[in-house]
Amino acid sequence: MSTCLITGGAGFLGSHLCEALLVRGNRVLCVDNLETGSLENISHIRDENFVYLNIDITQPFYIDEKVDFVYHLASPASPIDYLRLPLHTLKVGAYGTHNALGLAKFKRARFLIASTSEVYGDPEIHPQPESYWGNVNPIGPRGVYDEAKRYAEALTMAYRRQQGVDTAIVRIFNTYGPRMRPHDGRAVPTFLRQALQDQPVTVFGDGSQTRSFCYVDDLIAGIIALAESDYGDPVNIGNPNEMSLLEMARTIIEVTESRSEIVFEPLPVDDPKVRQPDITLAKQVLGWEPKIDLYEGLKKTLELSGVERLAR
Ligand code: NAD
Repeated sequence: MSTCLITGGAGFLGSHLCEALLVRGNRVLCVDNLETGSLENISHIRDENFVYLNIDITQPFYIDEKVDFVYHLASPASPIDYLRLPLHTLKVGAYGTHNALGLAKFKRARFLIASTSEVYGDPEIHPQPESYWGNVNPIGPRGVYDEAKRYAEALTMAYRRQQGVDTAIVRIFNTYGPRMRPHDGRAVPTFLRQALQDQPVTVFGDGSQTRSFCYVDDLIAGIIALAESDYGDPVNIGNPNEMSLLEMARTIIEVTESRSEIVFEPLPVDDPKVRQPDITLAKQVLGWEPKIDLYEGLKKTLELSGVERLAR
C-alpha cells in the first residue's frame, strides 16, 4: 500500500483526489489549514486509511510515517481568494512549496505540484503547448498567483536537478465539478448559482474571452496518471473543448432551465483573452485524454452537489 500526502486535501480538487486515491487502495494523509478549503468537503470520507492533519504548510512540518507520494495542491486558487490573500498566496507558493519538496526529499517520495495554465498569462500562442514560456504581468494584481506558480515550478526543477528529488509538474486548466464554492468567483459556480436563483448571469467584458472547462473526474485521472509515471517535465491537463464565456453562460441557463438574463460587467485587470490546452503530450506520455463532455459534466455537478448547495 502506498502512502500519499496531499497538501490542500480539503479543497475542491484535493478532496476529489483524496477519494480517488483511497479507492485505488492507498493510505491518504490530507494536510490542510482550511484557509479556502472546508471540512465539509471531506467529512463524508469514512476510511481507516484516511487521516486529516491540520497543518499550515508555510511553516516547517514533519510527518512521522513513510510517505511515497506528495501531491502538492495547497494554494488559494480563485481570483477572489488570491486577490484577498496576496501575501499568503506568494508565501504558500514559496515557503509552502519548499516545505513540501523538503518533505518529499527526506521521505524519498515522488512529488507532484499542481501548477496552472495561468503560468502562460495572456498567451500569444493558441492552443498553449508546454513549450510556451508565457506572457505574464508580474506586477498586476494577478501576478501574486501567476508568479507564485512560476516560482514553484522553478523550485521544483531545482530540487529535481540539484537535489535528485523525483518530481512532476501538472499545469491544470479550468476545472469544474461538485464542491466548488458558490461564491468563489469562478465562472461555473457563479453562473450556476445565479441561474438556479433566476438572477442575472454576470459575464465579464463582452463574453468573447474563451476558456476550456474540464470535469473534475477527468482531471484527477490525469493527475494520478502523471504522478504514477516517471515523467519530469510539465504536462498540461485540461479539456481542449474551448468556448466563449458567453456560450458557457447560455449553456448553464439551458441546463438549469433558468429564466435568468445575461448581463455584462467590466473585464477584470489582465483577464486572459483565450485559454485552451494543447494535450498532445498528455496523450503521448500518459495515454490520457478527457472523457466527460460539458453537458454530462454540468449534469453530474448539479446532481452530486444538490441545487441547494449550489444556490446557497
Ligand atoms: P481550493 O481553494 O479549493 O483548494 C486549495 C486548498 O489549499 C484549500 O483546501 C486550502 O485550505 C488549502 N491551503 C491554502 N493555503 C494553505 C496552507 N498554507 N497550508 C495548508 N493548506 C492550505 O482550490 P482548488 O481549486 O482545489 O485548487 C487546488 C490546486 O490546483 C491549487 O494549487 C490551484 O492553484 C490548482 N489549480 C486549480 C485549478 C481549478 O480550476 N480548480 C486550475 C489551475 C490550477
